[in-house]
Amino acid sequence: MITFVAMTTPAIETIPSLTQLSEDELLLRNSVREFANAQVRPLVREMDEHAKFPRALIDKLFDLGIMGIEIPESFGGAGGRFFHAVLVVEELSRVDPSVGVLVDVQNTLVINALLRWANAEMKQRVLPKLAAGSVGAYALSEAVSGSDAFALQTRATKDGDHYVIQGRKLWITNANEADFFIVFATINPDAGYKGITAFLVERGTPGFTVGKKEDKLGIRASSTCELVFEECRVPASNVIGDVGKGYKVAIETLNEGRIGIGAQMLGLAAGALDHAVRYTKERKQFGKAIAEFQGVQFQLARMAIDVEASRLLIYNAARLRDQGLPFLTEAAMCKLFSSEVAEQAASLAVNLFGGNGFVKEYPVEKLYRDAKIGQIYEGTTNLQLQTIAKQLLA
Ligand SMILES: Cc1cc2nc3c(=O)[nH]c(=O)nc-3n(C[C@H](O)[C@H](O)[C@H](O)COP(=O)(O)OP(=O)(O)OC[C@H]3O[C@@H](n4cnc5c(N)ncnc54)[C@H](O)[C@@H]3O)c2cc1C
Repeated sequence: MITFVAMTTPAIETIPSLTQLSEDELLLRNSVREFANAQVRPLVREMDEHAKFPRALIDKLFDLGIMGIEIPESFGGAGGRFFHAVLVVEELSRVDPSVGVLVDVQNTLVINALLRWANAEMKQRVLPKLAAGSVGAYALSEAVSGSDAFALQTRATKDGDHYVIQGRKLWITNANEADFFIVFATINPDAGYKGITAFLVERGTPGFTVGKKEDKLGIRASSTCELVFEECRVPASNVIGDVGKGYKVAIETLNEGRIGIGAQMLGLAAGALDHAVRYTKERKQFGKAIAEFQGVQFQLARMAIDVEASRLLIYNAARLRDQGLPFLTEAAMCKLFSSEVAEQAASLAVNLFGGNGFVKEYPVEKLYRDAKIGQIYEGTTNLQLQTIAKQLLA
């Protein structure tokens, strides 16, 4: 007979539901929601058309304290948790997934990697700047190495107390805005992944230039550029973590970062649902609002279920991460699922807007374009399936 030992079982009221927000989480979510509606929404179309963020908007993100969420207060950051970053990315992406990814890369990749792997001197030097006005970028991918990231060819050669970096990076988010770049290069191509080393490279370092900017389908305001390193000398003290252990920095930050991409896609889907609900209540056909037709109601209901399921997967992965519990499979699942939900929700929103869904004057065609990237960056859908299957079969 099973006995329930009351002593070891937490009282049910001490286990919050995943979506129940604490006071600080609620306050943060509401502030960012208000900010996104007031400061981002009026700029969305223009930023998409011009494929650019106004610097004034980036400055406001810093003023709000959401560009250094996990940076300790002693370095000028907000002293928050990973879950806070997830909430922020979700809320911003509900209005504009481009702004969502700018903030996501800053927090869940760049700052996350530095907090974990930078030495005390580098933290002291860089984190206050990242909290106060400097944007960061994370440069792993190259023309020949996307999914197979560790086949990278950018080379770092030791020369006295410096490394000389030679090579090119491709598709680097935030490249146009960034002052600090985390760059992965190999110190020994024959050593395979064990040669990979992470470096901090500052804008303005001789031999380093930001190259061609991609003209993209979606998240157009977010800059995606090539980085060019020609005999670029960086001090050996700019190595992040250990020499030859850059693969660990890359894998472990990306495992966490993809929860942030999940949050971006969740926000996008929730935004598509918001627009669809509002529009279907306003648009009249056959003498009544289209939201009064059961066929439309059921489509909205399905969207709401998908958004909620996506939120549960993401919040669970983020809360596991903050508790120091294993989250690898959960992170892969939430990223894969939420990116598929985002594409479906945006597509359905376009359908529900009818002809208006297909034109730029209305907001949903942009969300449809923006959704596609969720299945590509920070590990394609196939790579997430691979991670999940590997854990399943281990
Ligand atoms: C807008 C944008 C922003 C980006 N931002 C950054 C950034 O900030 N930093 C950065 O480092 N990179 C960035 N990237 C790069 C991105 O992470 C890669 O594009 C992505 O990892 C996929 O790599 P790939 O494009 O080379 O595709 P490939 O690896 O060539 O994949 C092509 C197809 O093959 C499939 N495939 C590949 N290998 C396998 C396999 N073993 N099994 C089954 N299927 C497989 C993939 O799933 C995919 O469908 C960005 C890309 C874009 C488009």
